[in-house]
Amino acid sequence: MLGPGVNWVVNRSPTGRNSGTGGPKSLGLRLRGASRALLLSFLLSLAGTVVGALVFLVSGGLILMTDLLHWVVDTVLEGVLLLVLYLASRLSRRFPWSILMLEGVIVSLGSVTVLATYSYFFIDYLRSIAESGAPSYVGYVPLVATITGATITGSMFVIQRRNYLKYRVEILNFDSAHALIDLAASIIASIGIVVTTTTRSYVMELFFTFILMLFVAHSLLEVFKDNIRAFTGSNRVPDLESYLLTKLTELDPGKAKVRNVIARKLGSFSVVEVSIDVNPRITVLELHKIRRRIIKIVRESSGLVYHIDVKFYPIRKKSVTRSTRTR
Ligand SMILES: [Zn+2]
Repeated sequence: MLGPGVNWVVNRSPTGRNSGTGGPKSLGLRLRGASRALLLSFLLSLAGTVVGALVFLVSGGLILMTDLLHWVVDTVLEGVLLLVLYLASRLSRRFPWSILMLEGVIVSLGSVTVLATYSYFFIDYLRSIAESGAPSYVGYVPLVATITGATITGSMFVIQRRNYLKYRVEILNFDSAHALIDLAASIIASIGIVVTTTTRSYVMELFFTFILMLFVAHSLLEVFKDNIRAFTGSNRVPDLESYLLTKLTELDPGKAKVRNVIARKLGSFSVVEVSIDVNPRITVLELHKIRRRIIKIVRESSGLVYHIDVKFYPIRKKSVTRSTRTR
């Protein structure tokens, strides 16, 4: 559920100190802190939705309805992120396929329901505009909702930015970036209401509605992007892969050498596969040690790695130089 520009690697200073803020270092603590931060986001988002819905009941209007649609979609998104992060911080480290399924199902069903409801009202509005030739609403009452919305998203941006710097969980980075975009949407909705009211033009109302639709599309795209990527196979995380390749050079080269690292993103999580060439005379006990070491390094590199495969390949004397052997 994270955007393409998201840096998956946990940012650590070279000395291993955690950004110098004295923040919690253990992954479990960080995930739990991030869960609390997301809970706040969810509650604020819910508050914005409720305010929007109440004002909409009083005033109506196409622009406010579209803004409200955006709030509902974002609240569903926040709710799912929260649920996923909460479960991830509680459950064992086994790869949570069931959570991924749940994430996909809730998000898909939620979005489809919300969109269907919106489309129904949207068509109704278009019909009334076509009949009357006037905007669906003229007046400043919807500003109560959109200005409240701007205040909420603005503070959400500041709060989540701070939380991200504290906990270093990438979902929070994504959340603060999204809050900034939502702030822009609230401001545009406010401008749209003022322009529509002063010009009394339904063309203006439709124009601003269209712009707000683009913000809704952006939110929905965020939701579905990961699913699309997983299907097309373009869900690799090169940032994390190159970071791990460097990190894994710490391994004793006499016993094991990294052949390949593949990191894939699924939903909010990533899966890492590490292929290692090992000396065939190594003991099983040592293999276990290497495997544990690799798992530790990978888990420390990103808070959202939930499954790690370590594959061992014995180095044969003749093939040492041929590093790209088939499996
Ligand atoms: Zn949004």
